Amino acid sequence: MGERKYWRTPLDIEKARKQKGRVIIHEEWCKGCEFCSFFCPLDVLKMSERFNSKGYHPVEVVDEESCVGCKLCECICPEFAIIVECDVKEGR
Ligand code: SF4
Ligand code: SF4
Repeated sequence: MGERKYWRTPLDIEKARKQKGRVIIHEEWCKGCEFCSFFCPLDVLKMSERFNSKGYHPVEVVDEESCVGCKLCECICPEFAIIVECDVKEGR
C-alpha cells in the first residue's frame, strides 16, 4: 500500500465507508505525460518501462488494492485514457 500524502488523519476515519476503485487504462491513448501517476494521492499508478505503438511509455497500475476510486486520474488525463470504476464497501 502506498504511503498516504494527507497532512492529518480524519478523526472519524474508522466510521468512513471505504470506496474501492478499479482503474482501466487505454494504453494506446496514453501519451506518457505522467500527470496521473504524479497526482494520484495513493501511488496506485506508475509509468511503465514498455512502449506503446506510438512510442510512449504508458502508465500502469502497480497497487490496485490501494485505489479508493477518487477519479482524480480519470479527470486529469488530457487524453481520456483512464476510466475508473467504483464500488463502495461497508466499513474499512
Ligand atoms: S482513482 Fe484516485 S486513488 Fe485510484 S488511481 Fe486514480 S487518482 Fe489514484
Ligand atoms: S494522464 Fe493520461 S496521457 Fe498522461 S500518463 Fe496518465 S494516462 Fe497517460
